[in-house]
Amino acid sequence: MINLILFGPPGSGKGTQAAHLVERYNLVHISTGDLFRYEMGNNTPLGLQAKSYISKGELVPDAVTIGMLRNKVEAHSDANGFIFDGFPRTIPQAEALDHLMAEEGTVIHALIALQVPDEAIVERIKLRGATSGRTDDSDENIIRNRINVYKTETTPVFDYYAQQGKSHSVNGLGSIEEILARLCAAIEGIERKP
Ligand code: AMP
Repeated sequence: MINLILFGPPGSGKGTQAAHLVERYNLVHISTGDLFRYEMGNNTPLGLQAKSYISKGELVPDAVTIGMLRNKVEAHSDANGFIFDGFPRTIPQAEALDHLMAEEGTVIHALIALQVPDEAIVERIKLRGATSGRTDDSDENIIRNRINVYKTETTPVFDYYAQQGKSHSVNGLGSIEEILARLCAAIEGIERKP
């Protein structure tokens, strides 16, 4: 079993790479952003609540996000492992995730951060916004707010797992195949117990 956090700023390619890693390592992919978009698309109470934050590029409150994540993990308790994408984004989320993994009798094995400079991120997200239909991808102010939120609220999560000796960084620039190869090299070096 291996549980990974795919980490990095918005637009760093987490979703794209997660899709490849899921196939290669037979993992369950949980993207909190995708889960929120699904809920918003169905106009559920959770979706409506999330929308007011997402449309401004702010984080959905921890209690809401953690509850949604917990349901998803518990629904896959027979999984071979998880790849978390876009979660955890705050220290309380990281603590809740560690707690949840312990309840499942396992641990987070590694956090792997995709490193991409700010300007490349803004360009990538704007490009994605042209086809994704995501309103948070098409307004430069919202994009920059998401990057700021990442820097202030989310980067401490890297240090949190670094203190456990679990944080790794990978260059997130290059072709999809090149970046995937770097991620796989990092994953091959990870201790997989328990
Ligand atoms: P993403 O698709 O991961 O870029 O997420 C899109 C938006 O969903 C973010 O800008 C946040 O508003 C919200 N979101 C996704 N994951 C989380 C999370 N773990 N905590 C709080 N908000 C989140």
